[in-house]
Amino acid sequence: MHQLTLAEIARGLADKKFSSEELTKVLLARIAQLDPQLNSFISLTEDLALQQAKAADARRANGESGALLGAPIAHKDLFCTLGIRTSCGSKMLDNFKAPYDATVVAKLAAAGAVTLGKTNMDEFAMGSANESSYYGAVKNPWNLEHVPGGSSGGSAAAVAARLLPAATATDTGGSIRQPAAFTNLTGLKPTYGRVSRWGMIAYASSLDQGGPLARTAEDCAILLQGMAGFDPKDSTCIDEPVPDYSASLNGSLQGLRIGVPKEYFGAGLDPRIAELIHNSVKELEKLGAVVKEISLPNMQHAIPAYYVIAPAEASSNLSRFDGVRFGYRCENPKDLTDLYKRSRGEGFGPEVQRRIMVGAYALSAGYYDAYYLKAQKIRRLVKNDFMAAFNEVDIILGPTTPNPAWKLGAKNSDPVAAYLEDVYTITANLAGLPGLSMPAGFVDGLPVGVQLLAPYFQEGRLLNVAHQYQLNTDWHTRTPTGF
Ligand code: GLN
Repeated sequence: MHQLTLAEIARGLADKKFSSEELTKVLLARIAQLDPQLNSFISLTEDLALQQAKAADARRANGESGALLGAPIAHKDLFCTLGIRTSCGSKMLDNFKAPYDATVVAKLAAAGAVTLGKTNMDEFAMGSANESSYYGAVKNPWNLEHVPGGSSGGSAAAVAARLLPAATATDTGGSIRQPAAFTNLTGLKPTYGRVSRWGMIAYASSLDQGGPLARTAEDCAILLQGMAGFDPKDSTCIDEPVPDYSASLNGSLQGLRIGVPKEYFGAGLDPRIAELIHNSVKELEKLGAVVKEISLPNMQHAIPAYYVIAPAEASSNLSRFDGVRFGYRCENPKDLTDLYKRSRGEGFGPEVQRRIMVGAYALSAGYYDAYYLKAQKIRRLVKNDFMAAFNEVDIILGPTTPNPAWKLGAKNSDPVAAYLEDVYTITANLAGLPGLSMPAGFVDGLPVGVQLLAPYFQEGRLLNVAHQYQLNTDWHTRTPTGF
């Protein structure tokens, strides 16, 4: 039963082949048996899950239907969950029980999804390897000595290991797409403003966006349907009708114009990944797509701009964790300054502290113009490059990452080496565009992802291209040995 996709689960539940309660019990047992190897969960919510599963079964018995009604999922541990620990992977929030549900959590619960637990993540979503979590590193089910990617590494490892069919995640600079690539999943970062950020603990507010991680594009469509939509509680959420994503999966790719940026294939890209990306292009050509070389001339400036803007916003967002109102408080503070300093010094891990310092520096008087303002100008140039490219093509295609998943610990002593791995993903966040990563093959037994980018609000186009590709390839069906 654990091999079923969300779409298959929906059919099985509708056909009364099994109940949500039965399925939930099977998956909870599987998590108990296998997750100690992976560490993909921070908290399990067995009681809530069984209660939600029974309620979903009752709703179905009463004639209700819906693709998410009774579907087991998990939430990245930065989505607030009422009365349940919401740690953000940090000691700072180890004791924090959210007083309300995030909009995404509430919407999915209303659609009948069953929450099995909260997944592990990099502390405050800062990282690309899931090694900065206070709760320990997550292992990649494809090779337990390698990282699963980050910051949504727990969601990715759990879905890849078939502990559950799909999970929520967030992407500030690649944290849905990169772990999807590293674990052979399909992951979608929606357009900025498509999914409410209300109740999602902020890292960099102008870049953060929630989205689905699953095995197939078909399942991403189902989960995104439950997450997307206008929310008056998030002032950056956009009031744009939500299309039927599952209905968008049957479009022909005849004449689809695919742009492949020449800058993507420079030094730094593993040549074996380059070959797999070219193979995926050929596959789409067979389906009728036409390929064109394009240029994104400002791409080289994106990493430095992102690593100014994201820490700047983080330094502001994380100032609320002061030891006074919620979260960790140091023992026996001498005075207020000591309380602030030690609560933050003891509650935040090293990567978070590094970014708060970088961000506070970039925003300080005298440096603001040189760093923050300059980075914002680069951000506009990156966006303009995309706007020009989308005048010529419908989709932009390239690698999701320059290398496959690295070994645990391999980049711990050199944070910049990890930052450089974000080269293909962060531009979409700077521009606010939707992006998807899907399985495209293997290098040394480790999965490789191909990334697709589309114009604003064209999530349906991304899902359709990925679905057509998945109907004609079987990379996404491969299962890691032992799971
Ligand atoms: N790796 C990037 C960072 O550390 C992206 C993280 C994310 O998308 N949350 O900032």
